[in-house]
Amino acid sequence: MNSSPKKSKALFWFYILLVYVFLQFSWWTYSMFQLNTESIRLKTEINLLKGETLEEVIQKGNELNEKLHKRWVMISSEGAVFIFLLLLGGYQIRKTLKKETALAQQQKNFLMSVTHELKSPIASTKLQLQTLQKHELDREKQKEIIANAISDTERLNNLVENILFASKIENSIFSLHKERYNLSEYIKEGMNQTIQSFNYKQRIVLNIESEIFMNIDRTTFPSIILNLVENAVKYSQADTTITLSLKKLNDKIVLSVADQGVGISNEEKNNIFQKFYRVGNEEVRKTKGTGLGLFITKYLVEEHNGVIVVKDNAPKGSVFEVTFS
Ligand code: ADP
Repeated sequence: MNSSPKKSKALFWFYILLVYVFLQFSWWTYSMFQLNTESIRLKTEINLLKGETLEEVIQKGNELNEKLHKRWVMISSEGAVFIFLLLLGGYQIRKTLKKETALAQQQKNFLMSVTHELKSPIASTKLQLQTLQKHELDREKQKEIIANAISDTERLNNLVENILFASKIENSIFSLHKERYNLSEYIKEGMNQTIQSFNYKQRIVLNIESEIFMNIDRTTFPSIILNLVENAVKYSQADTTITLSLKKLNDKIVLSVADQGVGISNEEKNNIFQKFYRVGNEEVRKTKGTGLGLFITKYLVEEHNGVIVVKDNAPKGSVFEVTFS
C-alpha cells in the first residue's frame, strides 16, 4: 500500500513534536542539575563568609552533596519514566495513524473498485442492447450478444449481493439453516456445472474423496468454494492448474484450493481476509474485484465451524485450506 502525502505530513509533524518534547525535557533536566549544583556552591560560599570553620563548612557541604545526589536519583528515575511514557505514547499514536491511513486507503480502493465494477457491466450491457436494437443480426450473433449481456448482469448481481451480504454480516442479521448433505457429491456436481458454464482458461482438477457428509447451509456454502476458485482463476495465468481437494483427516474435513498463480506475500496473508482489502493499489490494478470475497468466505467458513488459512504453494501460487471440525 502506498503512503499518501497526507500520511507522510502527519508523521513528519508527529516526529518533530516528539523530538521537540524530548529536547525540551533534556534541556530542563540539565538546567535543574546546573541550578542545584550552583545553589550548593553558593551556600558553601555563604557559610565561609559567615565565618564558619572549615570543618563545619566541609560537613555541611557533604550533607548538601548527599541531598544533591538524592535529587539526581529522583530526577533521573522520574525522567526515565517520563521518557518511557513518551515513547509508549508515541508508539501508540504512530500505530493509530498507520491504522487510520490503511483504512482510508482501503475505503478509497473500495470506492474506486466498486465504481469500476458497477459502471463497466452497466455500460457493456447497454452497448449490447443498443447493438441488438440498431442492427439486424443473425440468430447466432444475437444469441452471443444476449449471453454476454446476461453474464454482465450476473456480474453486477453478484457484486450487489456481495455488498448486501457483507452489510448483513456487519449487522449480524444473518442466520444459516444447516442440513446434512453428501458434500463430496454436492461439490462434484456443482463444480462440474461451474466449469462447463464459465469455460476457464486454467485446468481445474477435482480431487474429491467420496462419501464425505457434513452439515451445510445450501444457500451460502457454494460461495465458499466459488470465491476460492474464482480467486484462484483471477490470480493465475492461463494453462496453469487449479486443484480443488476434499478429504477427511482424522475427524476433520479439509477442503483446499491450490493454484499456481501470483502467490501472496507473508505480510499480506493476514490482511486479505479483511473487509474491502485488496493487495496493491487500485490505481494500477488490472484484476476485477472489491475485496469482499475473502471477508465473506471467512465468515461463512466460521459459521460452518471451520477455519481458513492461506499457505504458499510449491513452486509458486497459493493454497487456501479450510478445515471443518
Ligand atoms: P477481490 O478478489 O475482490 O479483490 P478478495 O477478498 O477475494 O477480493 O481477495 C482479497 C485479495 O487477496 C485480492 O485482492 C488478492 O490480492 C488476494 N488474493 C485472493 N486470492 C488470491 C489468490 N488465489 N492468489 C493471489 N492473491 C489472492
